[in-house]
Amino acid sequence: MDFGLDDQQVMVRDMVRSFGDERIKPGAAERDRTAEFPHDIFSEMGELGLLGMLVPEELGGAGMDTFTYLLAVEELARADASVAVGMSVTNSVCCWPILHFGSEEQKRRYLTPLASGKAIGGFMLTEPGAGSDAGALATRYRDGGDDWVLEGSKAWITNAGVGRYFVCFATKAPGLGTRGISAFILDAEQEGVMVAPPEEKMGLRSSKTAMVTLEGARVPKDAMLGEEGQGFKIALATLDHSRLGIAAQSVGIAQAAFEESLRYARDRQQFGKPILEHQGIGFRLAEMDTELAAARALLRQAVWESTQPGRHSRQSARAKLYASEMCNRVVAWAVQVHGGYGYSREYTVERLYRDARVTTIYEGTSEVQKMVIARALREAAKSL
Ligand SMILES: Cc1cc2nc3c(=O)[nH]c(=O)nc-3n(C[C@H](O)[C@H](O)[C@H](O)COP(=O)(O)OP(=O)(O)OC[C@H]3O[C@@H](n4cnc5c(N)ncnc54)[C@H](O)[C@@H]3O)c2cc1C
Repeated sequence: MDFGLDDQQVMVRDMVRSFGDERIKPGAAERDRTAEFPHDIFSEMGELGLLGMLVPEELGGAGMDTFTYLLAVEELARADASVAVGMSVTNSVCCWPILHFGSEEQKRRYLTPLASGKAIGGFMLTEPGAGSDAGALATRYRDGGDDWVLEGSKAWITNAGVGRYFVCFATKAPGLGTRGISAFILDAEQEGVMVAPPEEKMGLRSSKTAMVTLEGARVPKDAMLGEEGQGFKIALATLDHSRLGIAAQSVGIAQAAFEESLRYARDRQQFGKPILEHQGIGFRLAEMDTELAAARALLRQAVWESTQPGRHSRQSARAKLYASEMCNRVVAWAVQVHGGYGYSREYTVERLYRDARVTTIYEGTSEVQKMVIARALREAAKSL
């Protein structure tokens, strides 16, 4: 395993870091206050190739590998996690399944506008009654002649209201279990797709998340993704990939919290010297540094293993579990290092603390990651 970055990866990381520092970070606190979606930043990300990073160049994408894509997610999250989540949802849970399970015609039709930023993407799996137990989803589809017709409600949909194409999951009949679930590429700009007002969230305030109701929403017959009945398999494979993105987002948020803390501890004086020189604070920063390095290494190992044959649910669940829990520990310590100022909206760590909270919840809670890992361990135990 070689975790060294090649020249292109260094170039992309540095480019996204500069873009984050110059274009994203300066407005992050204001967007957190107004909860306004940054359309201009998404247009620029489209122009920079950040919205179709894994899409081949002949389809208008950047044709990068997963490792490079995750470096970009980390850098964007370091600048503003709200921007990073919208970007990673478009790349990971919309472009990725279309790239891996779509027909050549679907790839041409959907990936080109997604990669250029002309259309933002999303993923509709969760429902009011089906979160961790996504296989219990109740949104129905039926044959409507030239189209499939979808009826149901999807909850917590990132990019709802700003996105156009969504990979959406529905069942032929709930009694069929997960084998009844199929995946569709839904164009949200049509009658029958109703987006509720955005959720009032604790963090990720400028990322749009909303309930979507489907009432007779039509999907052309040729926009079913993969085979009929293959939907749940597509959802799980997509999550195996996209959880790496949440791990990278967690590392990016924690990196920002660490940098803010190091700077603050250097400048803040108490008892006649910088607080960084008090052992308690120095040790705290040492732990933050070590935890960050451990999460980054685990993530890179998971990415490397994802290039090997077979499924990698255990590796991506491990990376997501550790990185998101680490992120929440690090942001909490960052607030502590800032003392009372860490509790003020004037300081970045207050936003990072709120933004971090969701990383142990979405794309599978920490408990769900442990279920995935434990299932793999049960399999492994059979051959001991
Ligand atoms: C900001 C945000 C953005 C999101 N974006 C999207 C999106 O774009 N698309 C999408 O489809 N979904 C999205 N989600 C939904 C997200 O994936 C779900 O919230 C998540 O999977 C958890 O489901 P739930 O909220 O229904 O919690 P529940 O499943 O109801 O879980 C509640 C609690 O019970 C625990 N629990 C449940 N079952 C078990 C068990 N068997 N053993 C132990 N503990 C258990 C959970 O870990 C959790 O702590 C988003 C959520 C948020 C908050």
